[in-house]
Amino acid sequence: MGIRAVPNGETTSNPPKVLIIDDSIDVHRLLTARLRNEAFEIVNASSGRDGLQMALECEPSIILLDIDMPEMDGFQVLRKLKENPATANIPVLVLSGLTDSQDKVAAFDLGAIDYITKPFDFIELRIRLNAALRLNDLISMLARRAQIDGLSGLWNRVYFDNRLEEAVDSVARHGHALTVALVDLDNFKSVNDTYGHPAGDTVIQGLAKVLNEQCRSTDVACRYGGEEFGIIMPDTTPEAAQAVCERIRVGLEEQTWARHPERKITASFGVVGVSEDTTVQAKSAVWLEAADQNLYQAKQNGRNQVVASNMQAPKIRLAEAG
Ligand code: GH3
Ligand code: MG
Ligand code: MG
Repeated sequence: MGIRAVPNGETTSNPPKVLIIDDSIDVHRLLTARLRNEAFEIVNASSGRDGLQMALECEPSIILLDIDMPEMDGFQVLRKLKENPATANIPVLVLSGLTDSQDKVAAFDLGAIDYITKPFDFIELRIRLNAALRLNDLISMLARRAQIDGLSGLWNRVYFDNRLEEAVDSVARHGHALTVALVDLDNFKSVNDTYGHPAGDTVIQGLAKVLNEQCRSTDVACRYGGEEFGIIMPDTTPEAAQAVCERIRVGLEEQTWARHPERKITASFGVVGVSEDTTVQAKSAVWLEAADQNLYQAKQNGRNQVVASNMQAPKIRLAEAG
């Protein structure tokens, strides 16, 4: 079982990939020779158009971009890179023979991270390249951290909502299977009231651990709010997801808690999903509403149970577990 409590890719052992977009073969040769020694992986493009294509295909860590190129110049390339969400976050270091300060201002305005004039000093280029990569790593790390819940280490609600939109969209467009689960700790207020808020926090962390153990790496487990959690399970039928939730339910119920060994902790689950090749067009809010109704039902039925249903036929519930 994989863990996706923290986003993947926080550290990577692969060498940074540098895409050089320049119409001069001499520049390609020179930089390829020098940067390979520095443990960078180099990809070359000799025109703006090829460069845009390669930026999409090979997902470079950074782009070294020439400005003065025939057909499509570097400013146009930079504009297009920043317009496309798939390439907008790749740092672009401009490497240009244009020394006019207006050109530099234009490049920075378009989103370049740095500007080096040709002929360049290789040591300076290497230092600036590494600085740009470090800055970009830091920005990516902060962006990922902003989507993680501090107490549980799970994804937060903002991330969950975005991923749910995408998942629901892929059901509507491509007929993928999808299941969404809402999980709510049972009688949690009384845990806080009896053992104190820190004990309650430990329970939240304990449930997060069980979620990490039982969910697949492709699942998105998140803290939805307070003592409520959400799981998006792409390519998972409601029947399969129900079995996963059942394992989570039992895993939590079987835990012994150091602060209150006499008191078991349980949770209730509202699960809703579709198998593949369906034609469900419902928006994410409708999915959440349906999952919430099942969660309400699980609470009504006595808590510590999983109530699952099919999104296509909400009235026909799957066999209730628990
Ligand atoms: P039910 O079984 O119906 O869900 O009952 P409940 O007591 O779990 O639900 P209720 O909504 O009445 O209470 C939720 C409690 O969760 C109240 C709130 O103080 C507590 N809570 C929310 N966030 C946190 C948190 O971060 N830490 C702790 N310790 N408690 C929290
Ligand atoms: Mg609760
Ligand atoms: Mg609640």
